[in-house]
Amino acid sequence: MNDTAAALPSSDRTRIRRVAENARYDRATLHAIIDAAYLCHVAFADDQGTHNIPTACWRTGEHLYIHGSNGGRMIKWLGKGTPACVTITHLDGLVLARSAFNHSMNYRAAMVYGRFEPVADKHAALAALMDHIAIGRQAEIRAGNDKEFAATTVLRISLDEAACKVRSGPPVDDAEDLQHPAWAGVLPIVQVRGTPEADPLNTEATPGYVAAWSGMA
Ligand SMILES: Cc1cc2nc3c(=O)[nH]c(=O)nc-3n(C[C@H](O)[C@H](O)[C@H](O)COP(=O)(O)OP(=O)(O)OC[C@H]3O[C@@H](n4cnc5c(N)ncnc54)[C@H](O)[C@@H]3O)c2cc1C
Repeated sequence: MNDTAAALPSSDRTRIRRVAENARYDRATLHAIIDAAYLCHVAFADDQGTHNIPTACWRTGEHLYIHGSNGGRMIKWLGKGTPACVTITHLDGLVLARSAFNHSMNYRAAMVYGRFEPVADKHAALAALMDHIAIGRQAEIRAGNDKEFAATTVLRISLDEAACKVRSGPPVDDAEDLQHPAWAGVLPIVQVRGTPEADPLNTEATPGYVAAWSGMA
């Protein structure tokens, strides 16, 4: 991944060929797509075939992080350097064109290729996960104990080989369809933060990051 908006693909397999005008290869776009996500899908192959597993993710610097139980299939295979592809997709709208063929979707998508590596400093990495959920949470919760840390593996993948694809705006119809009498436009889709629901056993005052939750973009 490169720094500028005019960046080029980092490898041949990340060069977007289909609808190439929607390609983005700059770090700012990639970071924004990852930071807006709580989950990714990790594709990899093992001795039983190909899998594409949804899992929590977060970013620190130029790496995407995941974690899981030491005993999990995904963690075991990725931890030994199995080639992987991570995808993140945010759906922003349904694009209704005047022809069936030109219907589309507005979205922000990222794909990251490479191999995961184990993270030695699990404490710092998992604190960053807590920060990703809510800044300030890490200082309030019971810290992980030795047994919990020992049972957990944290892996990270470099963002060096990645591509983003972003579509926005109205439908693109063929000129001969523009007079066709069908409504055309975009049906936006927005992920909404709901009102926090306190645990029935909760006895604590509402912290600021919870009170602010539903007002946050
Ligand atoms: C919400 C959504 C709905 C979609 N619906 C359809 C659909 O119905 N039919 C369809 O054919 N396509 C759809 N796409 C686009 C699809 O993701 C691919 O871009 C497209 O199929 C072309 O794939 P390709 O491997 O032939 O492209 P190529 O351009 O040959 O891909 C080359 C490389 O570009 C990168 N790349 C390709 N697509 C993406 C992407 N979306 N995000 C980030 N990097 C990418 C990868 O590194 C890939 O190896 C959709 C995408 C999204 C996000």
